[in-house]
Amino acid sequence: MMFTVIDNPSTAPSTAFVAPRPVETGDALALLPNRQFHVSNVNAAGEAPLINASAGGLFLVGDRAPKTIEQIRSDNPGLPLILEPRAMRKYWATEDKPFLLPGGLFQSTLDGELDWQRLDSDLAITPTGQIRVGDSATLKAALREANKLDRSDMMLALPMASGWMNNEQHVKQLIAVINRSRHPVLLTFTSSSNPVGSARRAKAYRRIFKETTAPVVAYRTDLVGFDAVAHGALASAIGSYPSLRRLTPVGGRGFAMDPEVKSPHMLITDMLRFVRSTHMRRIWFASAASIQCFCVICRGADIDRLHGEPHERRLGHNHNVVTIDHLYSSYRDLDEAGRRALWARQTAGAIDTHPQLAAHINQPVPVDNVLKVWASAS
Ligand SMILES: [Zn+2]
Repeated sequence: MMFTVIDNPSTAPSTAFVAPRPVETGDALALLPNRQFHVSNVNAAGEAPLINASAGGLFLVGDRAPKTIEQIRSDNPGLPLILEPRAMRKYWATEDKPFLLPGGLFQSTLDGELDWQRLDSDLAITPTGQIRVGDSATLKAALREANKLDRSDMMLALPMASGWMNNEQHVKQLIAVINRSRHPVLLTFTSSSNPVGSARRAKAYRRIFKETTAPVVAYRTDLVGFDAVAHGALASAIGSYPSLRRLTPVGGRGFAMDPEVKSPHMLITDMLRFVRSTHMRRIWFASAASIQCFCVICRGADIDRLHGEPHERRLGHNHNVVTIDHLYSSYRDLDEAGRRALWARQTAGAIDTHPQLAAHINQPVPVDNVLKVWASAS
């Protein structure tokens, strides 16, 4: 048991031996399956050593990522490292220019840009800009250009405005385009808050993974990445804090936060939810003993102990990296039916933890609508 107070037996970490595995650099379809990926920015050097290299990998994002990747690789030689292209954060795609390619004296081609990425990155990612709701001409232009390339070391990035999930026709169109891709697709949605935060979006998200036949990675996601993996995603990549679990729209900002609200969101695997430390301290455990966490970071300390100081945030984010890997540990080597059955048990168990916690703190703990969708039959 990883936590006191609550228990969801299906989320207990697997103790099965993990055979050593090389970094399948340059071979997307060999490298991506059977690994849990993480998305990391400024804390990458601290998070990388916590990841099980034979069952995981790391996407490095942010302006400093190209400068830090070399050091992180030399410190963690067995860990797959993939650089996110800047275009996904900074550029609006258009039909004429779906990709952001360096201009100037040496006008770069898409092929040349991907070669350039591969000097540092174990796989290349198309520098696709963000695609506006319903802009199918641009979506198709990105597909068409990427499909011209014959290489096994790349992914087609599709950073979609989250409104694509609101409309039946748009969802169908997105599925159809993904199914025509020659290359694995790196799929993510943009929003200034959780892009898959409603029951409607959670259903649309599941449908995309269920109905696509091309390999798709659920990228910059939260625990909905496990719903994707249970419904056919090749892998998911989950960030250790909220702005890494989505893409912020170009030029936008996430919600501004006061310092106390910067206390970390902590993953409670048994409940399948991230909960802000402040919320637990003020609401859940104001007059009841806290949940204790027995991961290698917390070592039995209270789950609600952390505040907004940088070193405390890092501890919380490290806890998230370790516990995301715990959750994935039972998915390794399962086929899709096995993964779906495991997710069904985990989500049913997560719903059960709510009355357990409610009895302990003597107040109601509502079940989130998105968890209800995850727990529903597909
Ligand atoms: Zn912990």
